[in-house]
Amino acid sequence: MDNPDDVTVFRMGPGCDLSDVGEGKVYIGRVQGFANFGTFVQLNDRVKGLVHKSNVKTTHKERETILVRVRTIRPNGNIDLEEVTYPVYTVEMVERKSSSVLLAELSGKVGKTVMIEGEIAQIKQTSGPTIFTIVDESGTENAAAFVEAGVRAYPEAELEDIVRIVGEVMLRNNQVQIEVESLSILSGSEEEEVKERIETALEKRAEPEDIPLLVESAVLQKLQPAMRKAARIIRKAVFSAQPIILRHHADADGICSAVAIEQAVTALIRESGGDFDADYFLFKRAPSKAPFYEIEDITRDLDFALKDHIRYGQKLPLILLTDNGSTEEDLPSLKMAKVYGLSLVVIDHHHPDEIVDQYLAAHVNPYHVEGDFGITAGMLGTEVARLINPRVEQYIRHIPAIAGFGDRSEAPERARYHELVRETYTEEDCKNIALSLDYEQFWLRFNDGREIVKDILGLTANTVRHKGLIALLVEGANAAIEDQMNACMPHVRQQTLQNGAELFLLDVEIHAHKFTFPPPGKTSGEVHDRLCRKNVGSPVVTIGFGPDFAVLRSRGVMMNIPKMVRELRDEIPGGGISGGGHLVVGSIKFVEGMREEVLKGMIEKISRVPAGF
Ligand code: MN
Repeated sequence: MDNPDDVTVFRMGPGCDLSDVGEGKVYIGRVQGFANFGTFVQLNDRVKGLVHKSNVKTTHKERETILVRVRTIRPNGNIDLEEVTYPVYTVEMVERKSSSVLLAELSGKVGKTVMIEGEIAQIKQTSGPTIFTIVDESGTENAAAFVEAGVRAYPEAELEDIVRIVGEVMLRNNQVQIEVESLSILSGSEEEEVKERIETALEKRAEPEDIPLLVESAVLQKLQPAMRKAARIIRKAVFSAQPIILRHHADADGICSAVAIEQAVTALIRESGGDFDADYFLFKRAPSKAPFYEIEDITRDLDFALKDHIRYGQKLPLILLTDNGSTEEDLPSLKMAKVYGLSLVVIDHHHPDEIVDQYLAAHVNPYHVEGDFGITAGMLGTEVARLINPRVEQYIRHIPAIAGFGDRSEAPERARYHELVRETYTEEDCKNIALSLDYEQFWLRFNDGREIVKDILGLTANTVRHKGLIALLVEGANAAIEDQMNACMPHVRQQTLQNGAELFLLDVEIHAHKFTFPPPGKTSGEVHDRLCRKNVGSPVVTIGFGPDFAVLRSRGVMMNIPKMVRELRDEIPGGGISGGGHLVVGSIKFVEGMREEVLKGMIEKISRVPAGF
């Protein structure tokens, strides 16, 4: 320091603490106050030292800037300073070198006291401590704070606050947990800094791996950006401990799409830390009876989500819809979700209505890239699942083939997906599994049957149970279908339309068993399949109707059911018409007193569409 021009003086940045202070170094300080024995000087908002009166060189006022050299840092953290003066010097900023520990590193620090920084993702009051679930850029862990049994610790700390916690790392039930000694809510630039650090890291971590598709497919190739976007949003929800609700159509294809994603998400939740049963309360799967997200569904989902938010301090959920969610029918629910600020992701192969997109954070749909329903939801779900978590691929590779057979896909992709697994699953196996899913879902009603469905899809190690279960379910389903066909086939009425199509009509209300398997939709489907086999070479339309609904299936007729339904709604006032579905398979609802008019109008429309092969 012989040449005064070489003097470097440090300025402590915000967020720097004692560990950033170096003995012998000179800092820019600010006079904080005076005592008999000397002057208190702040180096920043959180670090201060004392210049003993024997080391004060000039006279000062409060808040004045002075230069101080650090003489010693005592073991108790007190800093002894001396005042220095230089005519010329260079200022260098001290950036905080984060002394906090990443949550992912905690398992190696059991028994040590650490400092962590992160976002509060959940606050749960137990009968003992308050459990804060903390998320940082590396993972999720719990911090337990105790004041008194059952009393909320740090009541000022709220969901999504950015906090700094100091505490000892412990193992509780084999899970890492921090016993909180101090918790402070960060604000201002410190909060911003940590928030940004977590956000940047989360964005990076949420980016899916660059992996090829399971099969060759021009449509799926074009859908990759949309699938990656959906996967990114889902991964980010998992890494920030946001609950996920997955709603899906309650048929084999819908179940397949949802279960593939369920496997990926639950494994990712378990990998990323937190509670041992986090994959149960952070992920919920539920079938929707209708092939769209009904008001009944969103109402139920919102009801639970809001209660969990209040009771268990959970974030509001991300909603995933598979094999439904892309049509006008979904609008009322999507609007409801918007009121509550819920984020929605749709993975569907129903013909989409553009109007839904303003409500969706991501939408994967083959129709967006000149594909069609032949790329089933189960295929899409499996590809998205691999992007969410590539490690589950080996368990879910067979799911697209089952979905393809279940939804009667005739796209070339079905054969390619089947090719992947045909050594283990023959075409008959796939069809049997699909039928078992439909049959079991009937008895599960509104439940997801997570574990039973895993057995049906062969996702558990117990292959004996899988095989036994499939054999039993297929036997039960086929017996029930046979019974239903024996009852209803003699009542089918036939009529040849002017476009050459054979039309078959069946009143499923009075000529089929009710409230049992197969339900009206599937009953009509079975009838249609049988009639198609009997009328090889002819275009076929089958309508199964009840008092206030009709289910349509067609082969070789260029129908657009959603469009027909909309036209009828406008043409028949007082018909109370709604409905939709796929282009050639769908359903329509109306008021009972208008059934004849609606059916007549529909048949007229069908007879005017081109038919033939
Ligand atoms: Mn489907």
